[in-house]
Amino acid sequence: MKNCAIVGINWGDEGKGRMVDLLTENFDVVVRYQGGGNAGHTVVNDKGKFALHLLPSGVFHSGVVNVLGNGVALDPENLWREIQEVTAKGVPITSENLKISDRASLLLPWHRDLDALEEQRLADKQYGSTKQGIAPFYSDKYQKKTVLAGELRDRAALLEHLREIMEWKNLTLQRVYGAQPYTIEQLERWLDESCAPILPFVCDTGEFLSKARTEGKNILFEAQLGALRDLDFGIYPYTTSSNTLAAYAPIGAGLPSLKIDEVVGVVKAYSTCVGEGPFVTEWSGEEADKLREAGAEYGAKTGRARRVGPLDLVATRYGVQVQGATRLALTKLDVLSYLDKIPVCVRYRVDGQETERFPFPTVLEKAEPVYKWYDGWGCDISGARRWDELPEAARAYVRAIEAAVACPIPYVSVGPERESIIIRGEGDN
Ligand code: GDP
Repeated sequence: MKNCAIVGINWGDEGKGRMVDLLTENFDVVVRYQGGGNAGHTVVNDKGKFALHLLPSGVFHSGVVNVLGNGVALDPENLWREIQEVTAKGVPITSENLKISDRASLLLPWHRDLDALEEQRLADKQYGSTKQGIAPFYSDKYQKKTVLAGELRDRAALLEHLREIMEWKNLTLQRVYGAQPYTIEQLERWLDESCAPILPFVCDTGEFLSKARTEGKNILFEAQLGALRDLDFGIYPYTTSSNTLAAYAPIGAGLPSLKIDEVVGVVKAYSTCVGEGPFVTEWSGEEADKLREAGAEYGAKTGRARRVGPLDLVATRYGVQVQGATRLALTKLDVLSYLDKIPVCVRYRVDGQETERFPFPTVLEKAEPVYKWYDGWGCDISGARRWDELPEAARAYVRAIEAAVACPIPYVSVGPERESIIIRGEGDN
């Protein structure tokens, strides 16, 4: 197996976690390379049901080394809580199977406050932040106003550094938002309670990964969210604050010169979107409620009801292109079994003109979907494990997507469990 990135093709929540969980057995190392605890992968396996926010999904496989790369928003408080939750269910997390880059920047306690304060200020113009502090964190990282995980090794020097940043940040908290300032005692408590426990996992992961490459180990790169949330290529400003694309994996992981061999893009059989922003195929009312219920579309992190609608091939084709996907996994096909006719958006209509191209973000607001209808299959498909066990209408739906986005779909997922997957062979057309 070569090295491979697993990425989202749409707005996130496509089921990347279950694909990483499935494919991890072919890999020695799994790396998270961007984002923070603002989204969640749901993984169901023999140890139970887990909502992972920052830990790579490879933690469930013994012998796999999991890495949090320099590109992640490392929130010690949430990470330590997550480690405790997972270990309580019998999944061991040690410095052997979890390594945190000493170059990862720390999400500081005020980042979460600033996120909430800014959303409050925006009132009805909110971006729909998960209030995990991700946008303030990345802004501060680029302003060089946070600290690196490796600085935890020298508490005295770190406290001095934190004091400087705190004094600067208190100006914003007090004078812009009228909020309470932070004190050094609060930071010391945070260091003791949340940072000290993660220090044993902090190391030079760049060196570890280079050595792993030299030894011929297989590396899996795990992304958070999807292409349309990428800071540079997504639906700005309704994006996240990091790069969700596979192209960023080598940098965010700590192997800047690496060439990724395979990019597995994960696409849901219909569309969902959390938070604000244009969503061309959005359904409302009873139609939406039915699909949301069928797919249990509530956020893994926030419990928020997701916005839902039919598959958007215009957005999906764009996602496949910017991700450079070499193969696709289509998830949650089982959820569509209740529909007699399945609509798929094949083009947009913008100012009376039809287009197959994904437009500039501000133009997206006025795009309307043009639908094509496919036959439903009218039966439960969650027990199918082979391509020929799927009804012809379901296979036709998969083939139509494959043709429209010009990328093969070797994986079709029909349930959340690890084994609920169809892996298409050579002649499975
Ligand atoms: P991720 O962030 O991309 O990993 O996606 P989430 O974990 O937030 O959302 C995917 C959800 O769908 C999880 O609850 C999964 O357990 C569930 N899921 C994944 N694949 C399938 C599938 O094929 N069928 C069904 N019914 N559920 C699935």
